[in-house]
Amino acid sequence: MPGFEVFGEEERNHINDVLENGVLMRYGFDAMRNGHHKAKEFELAFAEKMKVNHCQLTSSGTSALTVALASAGIGAGDEVIIPTFTFVASFESIIALGAVPILCDIDDTLCLSPEAVKKAITPKTKVVMPVHMCGSMADLKSLKEICDQHDLLLLEDACQAIGGTYDDNYLGTYGDLGCFSFDYVKTITCGEGGAMITNNHKYATNADQFQDHGHDHIGSDRGAEQHPFLGYNYRISELNAAVGLGQLTKFDHVLAKQREHYSILRETLSSIEEVTFRRVPDHGVESGAFLNFFLPDQETAKRVHTQLGRAGIDACFYWFDNNWHYYKKWDHLKNQRSMGKLPQEVRNGMQDFSTIDFSASDHWMSRTISCLVKVGWSEEEVQQRGAKMKQVISNVLSTSPAS
Ligand SMILES: *Cc1c(COP(=O)(O)O)cnc(C)c1O
Repeated sequence: MPGFEVFGEEERNHINDVLENGVLMRYGFDAMRNGHHKAKEFELAFAEKMKVNHCQLTSSGTSALTVALASAGIGAGDEVIIPTFTFVASFESIIALGAVPILCDIDDTLCLSPEAVKKAITPKTKVVMPVHMCGSMADLKSLKEICDQHDLLLLEDACQAIGGTYDDNYLGTYGDLGCFSFDYVKTITCGEGGAMITNNHKYATNADQFQDHGHDHIGSDRGAEQHPFLGYNYRISELNAAVGLGQLTKFDHVLAKQREHYSILRETLSSIEEVTFRRVPDHGVESGAFLNFFLPDQETAKRVHTQLGRAGIDACFYWFDNNWHYYKKWDHLKNQRSMGKLPQEVRNGMQDFSTIDFSASDHWMSRTISCLVKVGWSEEEVQQRGAKMKQVISNVLSTSPAS
């Protein structure tokens, strides 16, 4: 997944453009900036690449989610459905607006289960937010049907699956809104940064204003701009956007390499009968950012994970026990431990985690291992890695837990 593997000349050239005139901010200073508008340029290029009408860059993927929600008018007490397997940014971005995150089971796609979403809808539900974890997607068609039926927004968090497609369109473009992260470990990086994309002109205008203190960006005199709404500072800097412009030129190459390496690893592991793979919905194509596979049970998955680590196979994750990505370890959320007092709507609206049943999620996650797919491996390295993984897994499967 990591774009940092391919950081080089293109990124440096764009950064140097910015450093030469010293205008590190995306707005204003027109006389000084020598025609360089890196953030704007990135937005136009990314929207064109994704084939959407609008892109709004932000300071991070987390702020992109908040900006997206705010742009669609989501606020205090509104319920937003998110999966149990995601990143903490999902609920952080929701709570930041006084809205209420509602956790919901995943299925064998490792993403939000449409059946579980149906059961989680209440009169307060406003948004369904699938998170396309580890390179692949939720069943978007079913989710869209549910959203249309109940008049809900579909917001895709495509932070971990940029370049993946559904119905021949890029992930993030199927819903009303799509969000991406360009943090340091993502497929394309800005160092820090994020983006929201949409075809909805109103949301795009709102996002443009919200991420910059409500400035309307009409005219060139910043001091004379109006502020139709309250906003915040979620801006990206010119330096970060410059890095992203360099990365964007390598996007197709990174994707192709990722998928090539993914295919080799998958092919190798496919020969093990007990290993199965997550379901990719019909008409979906993974980005190849991770290879995800199931072992027959939790015990075996744990042992395989430990042994892969011991064999020096780096970047394989057992998310079931992870602090950031799975609901099981989110005590801060469950116990509502914020630094100040959370808005009353959030406190009252949160699920009762002492009784809630997420055994369907546990069923899949406890058996899942995800391995990061790198771009910089040589073909020989990928082959060796696959062979080693196969050997480790076969070994674990042929020995009893006690031995
Ligand atoms: C990385 C990530 C985010 C947040 O992105 P940041 O840029 O790190 O704030 C949100 N959702 C998912 C699924 C992510 O992987």
